[in-house]
Amino acid sequence: MKNRHFYLFLVWVCFTLFGSVLVRASESRRALPAVKVQPAFWWSGMHNPHLQIMLYGEGVGHCEVSLSTDAVAIDSVVRPANANYLLLYVNTAEARAGRFDIVLRDGKKTKRIAYDLRPRDTKTRAQGFDASDVVYLLMPDRFVNGDRSNDVVKGLKETTASQEPDARHGGDLAGMTASLDYLADLGITAIWPTPLLTNDMPSTSYHGYAITDYYEIDPRFGGTEAYCRFVDEAHRHGLKVIQDMVFNHCGADNFLFTDRPADDWFNCGSRYVQTSYRISALTDAYASASDRHNATDGWFVEAMPDFNQRNPHVMTYLTQNSIWWIEYAGIDGIRQDTYPYADRRAMAEWNKAVRAEYPHFNIVGETWLGHNVGVSQWQKGSKLVAQGDDSELPTVMDFPLMGLLGSCLDEETNDWDRGLARIYEYLSQDAVYADPAHLLTFLDNHDTDRFARNNEQADIKHRYRQAITLLLTLRGIPQLYYGDELAMAGNKSRGDGLLRQNFPLDPATTKPALEGEKLTATARETYDFTRRLLRWRKGNTTISEGTFKHYAIQHGCYVYARQKGDKMVTIIMNGTNQPSCLPLKRYAEVLPKSEAIDVITGRTVKLDGECLQLGVRDILILEF
Ligand code: CA
Repeated sequence: MKNRHFYLFLVWVCFTLFGSVLVRASESRRALPAVKVQPAFWWSGMHNPHLQIMLYGEGVGHCEVSLSTDAVAIDSVVRPANANYLLLYVNTAEARAGRFDIVLRDGKKTKRIAYDLRPRDTKTRAQGFDASDVVYLLMPDRFVNGDRSNDVVKGLKETTASQEPDARHGGDLAGMTASLDYLADLGITAIWPTPLLTNDMPSTSYHGYAITDYYEIDPRFGGTEAYCRFVDEAHRHGLKVIQDMVFNHCGADNFLFTDRPADDWFNCGSRYVQTSYRISALTDAYASASDRHNATDGWFVEAMPDFNQRNPHVMTYLTQNSIWWIEYAGIDGIRQDTYPYADRRAMAEWNKAVRAEYPHFNIVGETWLGHNVGVSQWQKGSKLVAQGDDSELPTVMDFPLMGLLGSCLDEETNDWDRGLARIYEYLSQDAVYADPAHLLTFLDNHDTDRFARNNEQADIKHRYRQAITLLLTLRGIPQLYYGDELAMAGNKSRGDGLLRQNFPLDPATTKPALEGEKLTATARETYDFTRRLLRWRKGNTTISEGTFKHYAIQHGCYVYARQKGDKMVTIIMNGTNQPSCLPLKRYAEVLPKSEAIDVITGRTVKLDGECLQLGVRDILILEF
């Protein structure tokens, strides 16, 4: 009997084992490989009900696809040349917030992918930004390292962090979040961090412009949820957040390039051709077709493949990505990288799509041209471009003014063409701009010499004070580059890495090293001056909304005024290294009273004399 029991037991064991193997085998025949879904979720109630859902996985393009709900309709299914992709276009017009399944079927294999349509957030978000703001540009890797444990993240291709100029230094969202008290106290109102999306590249990944995943914040910065917390915390501090986006190109290790849907997703048939950077050809009526083609379709660098925005699938992917970040993280504005290098018409449609969802939103494009005619043609409403060729881009960058501020103040101003006379001349041409108030103005950024080119400049004090005064009182939306307020110096001829120093803020105390006396007297003075003006400018509608009036240079002095209603602010600036006594009679239009308070010193300035005594490179900001 015992043997018989043992025999039956053996048969049972065999059956059970064999049966489970059979079940597993049939399951594996039915299972489909992992599928990456982008965007991973969306929202109900969007202005545009059409949605592209990109499915990426081995052989997914061979699958039949259906949805588990009737509320979402499939508009079309697009199968690119590469069978690892399937583009599902759906219509969500009738859908309420909720979850449905995307059902993939390949023969007997099936896969269900849960997909969320979320309710929209009604909190104060997507606020936009304008001339009432001052933008603070910072480079996250070089700002403040708040979490040393994420400096290197296993599994990513750049495997080290160090303080070498081109290495990852380790700055992150934890450091940025810890700095919010400092930034709010400084008086800026919006933060523009250079891109935070994952750059899984083998080297120089720190700068962020070689994106390898458009839907993920780099884990070395703290990841996506840390970003959302940062945006919420910034809002609690009264600060807006402008996200840096890159539609022109991605990192060469992005799956969209390494395993691309089709060769027409990238320009020049997905093969590297260098752009000449000669983007003036794009608005030049005399330009040859080949120069135009090369400017937009050539690649920025070989490691950054150039997206073909004329491919509607590509542009829909990028447009949705921008809307996803606005809706998910609650950002207030976008800075778009290398703007003219992307296709002008496609980008105009993108601007319109974003504004259709978020009417108050603002976008600034990097329009790096050396003259106002060139820059102005990239701004919405430009009268210089042909009808039907409007860029639709609300805000452009005033690179010409940056160039002038960087050089004019080294010169002795004369009454005609030197020093401040060149600023006067430039501003007198503002009619070329459709909307001068929507120019982003700045002294420097992460790609240029720092305004303080080196620490030895004897005139840093006068030069900087005049530059920051002009920046914060002329038309436009001022932007500071982190460290401007501490007179941090950097010279591009020594490489980009050295323009992007670590910011001396202690994440533990959340204060810059001002108390530790690590800063020079110049840095301390620069900080005090900047903070005073920033705090004065904040909420000052005479500056942000007021009219502008200026006088041609006389006696080496530049005089201009901003006026709104019965309030006026008049700026008087001596552009020479000589004391001056400025005759006042000529300036009656902008000196409505016999005395005024000077914002910089707080003292009362008498204006009833024949002339006004000004010291070397003196500045008066007179409030009436
Ligand atoms: Ca870190």
